[in-house]
Amino acid sequence: MNLTVIDHPLTRHSLSVLRNENTEAEAFRAAAKRLTFTLLMEATRSTPLTETTIRTPMEETVGYELGDVVAVAVLRAGLGMLDAVLEMIPKVKVGFAGVQRDEETALPQEYYNKLPDLANAHVLILEPMLATGGSLAWAVDKVKESGAMTITAMCVVTAPDGVRHMYERHPDVRIVAATFDRELNDRAYIMPGLGDMGDRLFGTF
Ligand code: URA
Repeated sequence: MNLTVIDHPLTRHSLSVLRNENTEAEAFRAAAKRLTFTLLMEATRSTPLTETTIRTPMEETVGYELGDVVAVAVLRAGLGMLDAVLEMIPKVKVGFAGVQRDEETALPQEYYNKLPDLANAHVLILEPMLATGGSLAWAVDKVKESGAMTITAMCVVTAPDGVRHMYERHPDVRIVAATFDRELNDRAYIMPGLGDMGDRLFGTF
């Protein structure tokens, strides 16, 4: 299983704020951003650096520059993780992947797809809720078609079905998450989860 669960106290604390049903949209967005910072450290662990020469006020020394990183936010819940990525990696390029479930076939159906040039890029896919895995697998298909070099999925909550689905479809994709939850309910919501991430981010109930 290509899943890393971050059990750092700061991650757990922010996750608890997100899980709490009494957390309102503004505090929810702030906690999602803070939690994403803690995931980013691990998600970018293998991103290559190039060496440069820089001068401190004291002398010349070696410096490092991050390689090309592209973030792809899966709409709409992935937007809740985007601010943290933009702040930590200001030169990141950003793509958007819009997918929804076809109510008749239950298959992922694209409604928007705008990706920057991904040739040789290190891609972070922002998909907070890995429930069935259909949307993430679809987004990975699109990113692979565009020639990405490495792909890491950043999730807040994962569930066994979604992780299994990803392992079957895209075993090479690393998943970095804040938790691996128990199961899906009969409406494909994660239990205990945090409810509908998009609704909680944007107050649309
Ligand atoms: N999407 C969500 O927002 N929440 C879930 O529990 C599952 C999918």
